Amino acid sequence: MNPLPESLDLAIIGAGPHALTLVTHLLQKRQKLRGKFRVFDPSGQWMQRWREQFAAQEIEHLRSPAVHHPDSLPSALRNFAQKHTAQGYSNQLYPPYALPGTQLFNAHCDDVIQRWQLQDCIVPESVERLSLKPGRFPFVLETPAGTVLARRVVLATDAGNPNWPDWAMRAQLEQVITGSEAKIAHASQVDLRRYPDLSGEEILIIGGGLSSGHLAVGAIRRGAKVSLMTRRDSREKLFDAEPGWLGPKYLKGFAQEQDWQKRWQMIRDARDGGSFTPEVLTKLRRLSRDRKLQFLEYCQVKQATWNKNQWQIDCDEQAPNQSELAATNAEHLAQRTADRIWLATGSTMDATQHPLLQSIQQSHPTEIINGLPVLDQHLRWPGLELFLSGGLAALQLGPAARNLFGGRLAAERIVPAIVKPSLALSSRVV
Ligand SMILES: Cc1cc2nc3c(=O)[nH]c(=O)nc-3n(C[C@H](O)[C@H](O)[C@H](O)COP(=O)(O)OP(=O)(O)OC[C@H]3O[C@@H](n4cnc5c(N)ncnc54)[C@H](O)[C@@H]3O)c2cc1C
Repeated sequence: MNPLPESLDLAIIGAGPHALTLVTHLLQKRQKLRGKFRVFDPSGQWMQRWREQFAAQEIEHLRSPAVHHPDSLPSALRNFAQKHTAQGYSNQLYPPYALPGTQLFNAHCDDVIQRWQLQDCIVPESVERLSLKPGRFPFVLETPAGTVLARRVVLATDAGNPNWPDWAMRAQLEQVITGSEAKIAHASQVDLRRYPDLSGEEILIIGGGLSSGHLAVGAIRRGAKVSLMTRRDSREKLFDAEPGWLGPKYLKGFAQEQDWQKRWQMIRDARDGGSFTPEVLTKLRRLSRDRKLQFLEYCQVKQATWNKNQWQIDCDEQAPNQSELAATNAEHLAQRTADRIWLATGSTMDATQHPLLQSIQQSHPTEIINGLPVLDQHLRWPGLELFLSGGLAALQLGPAARNLFGGRLAAERIVPAIVKPSLALSSRVV
């Protein structure tokens, strides 16, 4: 086990793909930095949460193409796949754009960790508080095992807060009060591996994003009947955002926009809520034809009540002009009940809610646009050597900030400010 260091030149909080991308880019630029940084994660391992999320939803392959991964060379994952044909990895690049299989991606990440010798830089601790004090090591990281001082910090915790609609919060509270088993959960808490058999159960899944699709397929595979409820019609998209956001085509115009509010709107429009990949939507349509799945489009839950060991669900229809569709839905909605509700309602990035930014915001307030902080061009919290990677950097990086591609964009901004003394902030915390 890695002993807790007293002070560090660079502390990275979180050991997910964003942190791994940052570290490979950092060492690519400056080998000398080896040994000068540590990565904090309570799991004590690289990529633990990523692996768990993919295993919990039984995801076969990534949504993003093979050029997106944590290594510094874009072709590294493809090269790795070709080098390991015996393990079947070369067959794990799925059409249409060579989407890496989960096993291939994870094996490649293991290879990256080994090649860059990164196994030993993890401190198996959660950082519970981040604050400032005067001096050369201004950041104070509090962990259950003790305090560490750092000169610079990168926050790579993926700060998404699961979205719980009001009716779902009320429903959960009701279950807590009655002491019954929690049969309402957010997708990020659902682990399909915990349910070997769901036959005879009816599951209502809320949301039109890829997670709801994966959970629906997994639940049906275990014998459940699923209803998939979306506020609008089911959308089909290859990626989270248009491919133009993964290069200068749209990012150039985004960077030229000086109004932060407008940038926020561009991010929102580009992500445009959830969508299924064509492959998953085809699977879902097939399951619907086999009467194992029912699409409930233009619907929203108003209230869910736990009664006689089942959810009684009261819904609102959103599209009265879609008369045919509305009539079909209404027929089913009249007697809607479910044994479980899963909320695949996504997550929101909000710096004001991030536990590690509370003290920082008090001492160094910055402009926050609907939860997203205005950072400098190196993704620093203004006035501090505190860098943010992930969705919280979206005002600078665009709609793919929280994706693997965003990890690369973040590394390209952060690394120069770490390796070039001329880009370091002159102001010290006093
Ligand atoms: C199911 C799913 C599938 C996805 N598929 C894709 C895809 O195919 N392609 C793509 O580009 N993007 C995808 N994404 C989006 C995105 O790439 C992932 O969410 C990715 O995990 C983000 O990486 P990260 O490093 O920012 O965060 P994470 O992977 O969440 O890692 C953050 C780490 O920080 C640690 N941490 C949190 N708080 C603390 C603390 N206080 N102290 C210490 N450590 C802490 C956590 O333990 C965690 O290990 C997917 C997301 C999900 C949920």
